[in-house]
Amino acid sequence: MNYAKIELHLHLDGSLNIGWAYKKAIRKKIIKEDTAFEDFYDLLFAKNVKHSALSITKFDLLCDLLQNYDDLFEATYDLCKRLSEIGIIYAEIRFASQQHCKEGLSQREAIKAVIDGAKKAMDDFPIYVGIINCLMHKGDSSLFNEKDNYGAIEAGESFYGDVLVGFDLAGYENNCPYSDYSPYFKLIKEKGMAFTLHCGEMGIGSHILDALKMKPDRIGHGINCIQDESYIKALKEAQIPLEVCVTSNIKTTMNYGSHPIRRMIKEGLKVTINTDNMIFARSDLHNEFQQLKMLGVEDKTLRSCMFNALDASFCDEETKDKIRKQL
Ligand SMILES: [Zn+2]
Repeated sequence: MNYAKIELHLHLDGSLNIGWAYKKAIRKKIIKEDTAFEDFYDLLFAKNVKHSALSITKFDLLCDLLQNYDDLFEATYDLCKRLSEIGIIYAEIRFASQQHCKEGLSQREAIKAVIDGAKKAMDDFPIYVGIINCLMHKGDSSLFNEKDNYGAIEAGESFYGDVLVGFDLAGYENNCPYSDYSPYFKLIKEKGMAFTLHCGEMGIGSHILDALKMKPDRIGHGINCIQDESYIKALKEAQIPLEVCVTSNIKTTMNYGSHPIRRMIKEGLKVTINTDNMIFARSDLHNEFQQLKMLGVEDKTLRSCMFNALDASFCDEETKDKIRKQL
């Protein structure tokens, strides 16, 4: 259990240091000055994305705290430090550069800040880090934030291979037909860059088939494959790595016992174990492994999930070899 671990699915905004986020939210007047820390903590842990005590969503609140170079740098550095402290030797941290441009940063500057924070952390702690830039589902159409999504690709491309290792599609899965997003990922694919797609998390299982048509390198979640045998079959045939985030899923729809991860492993799917959001899930990768162990998942299975993660990681072969030695 105490072996070195790999985290492939972790959001920067959803994994901030909660104490830092609280102070910053008061300073930026996003929450009232007299809000107690415990209330802030509970508010972010609440099941609903848009809490009645907030005028914005929980995700927007945390993104609003990260609107300049120093804060993005610091938040990334601090997250890498905390990950290293719990034995993570390789982490892919994702964020959406377009969410951090409200106070004048360009998407490119936002990415630079996160990469610089990750680089400094790699100098200071025994951890390798890759950054994933997320495109966003927003509004009721894939064209709603078309300019920002293409901007995210363009800005990301200029750093690709220099800590930035791939792209993702995040946000609310059900806003419009999933396949409407394929032009963005066709472009990413044409440019030879890696990507993963959030799908089959809260949306219908058939999104998995739509996602597979875009030929992603991985799928984020994919747990709704259990809605139909044909979805499981398609994932199995594609041998596509799945970034499963058990506690995070439990926050939305199920409990540990009913989570499909054990069935997914049994079906021979390429499962990797991840956290998603340390704040919202009140979890970390160490806890994810512990929960699975308590559910009766054997150590050797957990270890094979870890090697799935190594195979599925977006880092270069040289880094992979270094990580493999540590595993
Ligand atoms: Zn996620």
